Amino acid sequence: MNIIINAFEVSPFAKTGGLADVTYSLASEFDALGHNVIVIMPKLKSINIASHNFQKLDYKLEIQMGFSTEFAAIWEGVVPNSKAKVYLVEHDEYYSRDSIYGSPEEYMDNDRRFIFLSRAVFEVAKVLDFTPDVIHAHDYHTAFTLAFLKSFYRLEERFSKCAGVFTIHNLSFQGKYNPYRVMDFSSFGMKEFYEGSWFEKDGVVNCMKVGIMFADKITTVSPNYSNEIRMAYYSEGLQNELNERGGDIIGVLNGVYYPDWNPTSDKLIAHNYTPDTIEIKKQNKYDFLKSYGLNESDNLDMPLFGMVSRLTEQKGIDIIKEKLDYYLGNKNIRFLLLGSGQQDYVEFFNYLKWKYPKNAFINIGYDEALAHRIFASSDFIMVPSRFEPCGLTQMYALKYGTIPLVRATGGLVDTVSEYNTETMEGTGFVFNNFHKDDFAYALERALSVYASPKDWEKLKQNAMKEDFSSVRQAVDYIEVFKWALEKT
Ligand code: ADP
Repeated sequence: MNIIINAFEVSPFAKTGGLADVTYSLASEFDALGHNVIVIMPKLKSINIASHNFQKLDYKLEIQMGFSTEFAAIWEGVVPNSKAKVYLVEHDEYYSRDSIYGSPEEYMDNDRRFIFLSRAVFEVAKVLDFTPDVIHAHDYHTAFTLAFLKSFYRLEERFSKCAGVFTIHNLSFQGKYNPYRVMDFSSFGMKEFYEGSWFEKDGVVNCMKVGIMFADKITTVSPNYSNEIRMAYYSEGLQNELNERGGDIIGVLNGVYYPDWNPTSDKLIAHNYTPDTIEIKKQNKYDFLKSYGLNESDNLDMPLFGMVSRLTEQKGIDIIKEKLDYYLGNKNIRFLLLGSGQQDYVEFFNYLKWKYPKNAFINIGYDEALAHRIFASSDFIMVPSRFEPCGLTQMYALKYGTIPLVRATGGLVDTVSEYNTETMEGTGFVFNNFHKDDFAYALERALSVYASPKDWEKLKQNAMKEDFSSVRQAVDYIEVFKWALEKT
């Protein structure tokens, strides 16, 4: 199958969250399965052109933006450890900026930056003489690709039989923009913008809705999330649209690219281990704690709860704040954070660091290598999310024998099950209500299992046996693509 993956972020080139991990693993796995896959993304300033060996191609793209024609160049590279080609669309005025989306506020012209890429996809395919069977667009940034596919490019032989698949990674980011701008430079014109049209939602252009309405098939990143979003609480206002397209929506659980996320071979951690040598795991914890100035007299065996997360309301920090403060002050636990985001959360975590210098280790920022070390060193990983389309950190943690403590929402339900001390089955600790007391009760259960060596060893074995491989994810997506092609 000829596949185009169109996304704004793809690991290891550019990443702010799970989207990049998934587009990367899909490209690698489609290639490994023998498909002809190319990735198209913007040439962002943060991409290291030299280290990834990108080469500028001798093409000049012409992209129609309303009444004007704009130009772009393309750079070619490969997805590491695969043959899948990556094409970077170069337009420095749009993409050569310090942050990917703008920080702390989004760039005012993100609408334009996203639409330019969405349209460039077709021009890239043409100059490369690539005839896609499927265009797989990810999240609202590239949703307009599907509108273009089903309108202007439908008439071109090369794209006339191409299916469009849209993957929703997070419904809470929708891309709501001024119609006078967007309808102009997307070339659809204001005539297509009226109440209830596929572009309109609440008086503005809603890119997420555009993706949902124009796609042949829509996927969410976990089966449970695909059901949840049919309900008002999780639908982020798009309940009607999601139910209207309900028959075309399916959840495909995200996968983990195990060549990169495996304690057996991970080069970013100090001590590698397997399920049979799991006792080595705690050397990682000891080294880690010592790197923070602790020594043997500091009881290095105290349970260590890690968290690797964007610091936003979604991630459930509000319900853990008070309890963390209490448990760090009154019980024997340690807490280790890697995250960046909202200033009020940053201030809270820095307060913990100040109050519990030997028990709270706070790392504000983005650090891929440190994330690996945290998954290897922690005993538990916390994911107390308010909502969670899939969540990757709990899946990484499981592979490292690090036990997830999660709220029962979205993909966390599909990937973690409560440990049962009677049957000794289960892989973690799960709480239902988005409430601090429910979280604390799960924490208590976790601590009591940690204190029971027989259970604790069994639980880690259960966790490491879980298999959420991205190979399965890619195979599932190919089935979705075939399903989408039935429609074209
Ligand atoms: P989301 O996409 O909502 O941020 P996911 O759990 O799906 O959440 O994916 C998060 C990804 O980003 C994981 O690979 C996680 O390890 C990584 N990550 C999150 N915050 C950081 C950080 N501060 N430093 C390094 N990696 C991070």
